[in-house]
Amino acid sequence: MKCPYCGYEESKVIDSRPADDGERIRRRRECLGCGKRFTTHEVIETVPIIVVKRDRSREVFDRNKLLSGILRACEKRKVSIEQIEKMVDDIEMKLQNSLDREVTSQFIGELAMEELKKVDEVSYVRFASVYRQFKDINTFLEELNKLMSEK
Ligand SMILES: [Zn+2]
Repeated sequence: MKCPYCGYEESKVIDSRPADDGERIRRRRECLGCGKRFTTHEVIETVPIIVVKRDRSREVFDRNKLLSGILRACEKRKVSIEQIEKMVDDIEMKLQNSLDREVTSQFIGELAMEELKKVDEVSYVRFASVYRQFKDINTFLEELNKLMSEK
């Protein structure tokens, strides 16, 4: 981002916030050459996140899929849609912030379990049983015991 005053190439970001249209981000920058401040409007880069599934096939991360998975786990529980949206937002943000463009579906599952654990234990165990693919009732009970003993 070139400084409009002196043309120096490097600047540091002092403040950034979404612009009114929501598609751009407004940044206050300070030139590392002359120290003057200027504002830029930058297009938000949305690099798709690629999910590597258990069978090694890949697909683009689908927020709705994650949402419906969590919804299913929270069925008939006292978890509001706002809480679920918030969990999905947090997970998505973590994925966006990780430097890897490819993540495994297990990793997303772990993140979702982390969030669910904080919100509702029954939903957590339901979700975990699907994600970890418990082979039998014993592994399932083991997980349940682990959860209980953490309290
Ligand atoms: Zn400058």
